[in-house]
Amino acid sequence: MELWYTEEHTDTVRFSIKIKEQLYSKESPFQQIDVFDSEEFGRFFTLDGLMMVTEKDEFIYHDMIVHVPMAAKPDIKNVLVIGAGDGGTVRELTRYSSIEKIDMVEIDKLVVDVCKEFLPQTAAKFDDPRVTLYFEDGLKFVRSKENEYDLIIVDSTDPIGPGEGLFTREFYGNCYKALNDEGVLVNQHESPYYNEYANSMKRAHKRIRELFPICKVYQAHIPTYPSGHWLFGFASKKVDPVNDLDANRWNALGIKTKYYNTELHKGSFALPNYVKEMIENDNK
Ligand code: SAM
Repeated sequence: MELWYTEEHTDTVRFSIKIKEQLYSKESPFQQIDVFDSEEFGRFFTLDGLMMVTEKDEFIYHDMIVHVPMAAKPDIKNVLVIGAGDGGTVRELTRYSSIEKIDMVEIDKLVVDVCKEFLPQTAAKFDDPRVTLYFEDGLKFVRSKENEYDLIIVDSTDPIGPGEGLFTREFYGNCYKALNDEGVLVNQHESPYYNEYANSMKRAHKRIRELFPICKVYQAHIPTYPSGHWLFGFASKKVDPVNDLDANRWNALGIKTKYYNTELHKGSFALPNYVKEMIENDNK
């Protein structure tokens, strides 16, 4: 008998992966958590039936959500990560000896426990002494923070379920307040391709743009996310991710990456015309 994992990318489009076995399945107080093993993508885990991380392509997402801001602003010391329970974002951040503190706020402790057991590739660095884990709602956590972080990375689920609050004006406003004068906000910014995702993306972009003087979007190809075309948001009070990039300085760090490089960094901000139009005419 063949077993297939199938995800609905839209009401009329499905994406399937042949699986070897299902390794875990449980409903936490926040969401349904499943872990599978497959020939093509290795192990992968889903939340509420949506792909989060696969062993084969997670490097793309984690390289792009971490190394782009770290190269654009090399003196980052204090970082807040919201969501990111699989650990991939923290793993990449811990490669910078210049970072002094990483606070990670994940609403669902079970995601971290499950990833430690089944995805040690991403959940590899939670025990780094600079990392503090908080199991609470990121929306509430940032409310009380002021002028505290150089970088906030929002590595969230989509804006349905527990992730909904992480796409609101209130949340982005509190992130602005929690960042210092040169602070940078990077978030997973959904996909421009299918309407439902594109609408979330446009809404998020408009809200962030109302607050931050510099607000850009960059892209990566992530095979297991809907349409494979994924965006990230880069917002800041002063730092421009392309003009302020000091490629030599980042390259001198000697950090070996499988996807990110400083040429690609610049290129990833060059958007297709249809995406440019979407974010420039985002009147939703
Ligand atoms: N790379 C993934 C993607 O885009 O599909 C997302 C990675 S990570 C697994 C997302 C995490 O965000 C989940 O573990 C989820 O529990 C967490 N999360 C969702 N809403 C949250 C909230 N309000 N506060 C903190 N964490 C939240």
